[in-house]
Amino acid sequence: MTWRASVLTLFPEMFPGPLDASLIGKAREKNLWSLEVRDIREHGIGKRRTVDDTPAGGGPGMVMRADVACTAIDAARDSNWNVPAIYLTPRGVPLTQARVRELASAPGVILLCGRFEGLDQRAVDARNLEEISIGDFVLAGGEIAAMALIEACVRLIPGVLGDETSPSNESFSAGLLEYPQYTRPQTFEDRAVPAVLTSGNHAEIAKWRQEEAENLTRSRRPDLWALYEKRKP
Ligand code: SAH
Repeated sequence: MTWRASVLTLFPEMFPGPLDASLIGKAREKNLWSLEVRDIREHGIGKRRTVDDTPAGGGPGMVMRADVACTAIDAARDSNWNVPAIYLTPRGVPLTQARVRELASAPGVILLCGRFEGLDQRAVDARNLEEISIGDFVLAGGEIAAMALIEACVRLIPGVLGDETSPSNESFSAGLLEYPQYTRPQTFEDRAVPAVLTSGNHAEIAKWRQEEAENLTRSRRPDLWALYEKRKP
């Protein structure tokens, strides 16, 4: 069955956008995944199709209505399609490669993109939405976050990347950041490719890469390093 992303948004014209480029776009042409974009405004209230209102308790901005959001989610979740329903929000659990792997092996995802000051909490509670953040910064809307999540999932679907790309060495796959990569030319502005990489000694190359990955992770991501050390036998 084809992996499907169902996106609920107030700005459907933003899709597919960058998701139609390169291998991810070609994979969609080949039906390795599909994209369904639904306009939340279709479920808006009244003649003006209102989707938001002022925050209870006061404060700046507008809040997306729970009734409108839930109707949109219910329409996306047809009876046989039991997939995770996710609300993209900076208040969510940070997205990890481990969760991306799980989501990529589900039949698909429903992604609700917020706008304004965010979504009425009752929609999250009533539909048991999984709240996911793509990082500790604030975007203007959930659309680009949804695209990031979709792209991360789709590249793991078998057949999407060429055979030459093995996900097993990548950043996070072993709990470490990836070692540095080099290619031709052999010398660039007086900088040579590290000699070990052209030595042909595969054991030495593997050892060098492992050390580089460990050093980089230790200095740049003490949080990942601590987890890695804990997991080491
Ligand atoms: N007032 C909110 C931010 C709203 S930003 C707060 O302080 O938490 C508007 C919308 O952008 C959000 O509803 C969410 O859908 C999206 N968004 C912003 N930053 C995001 C992030 N880091 N990860 C995922 N979605 C994000």
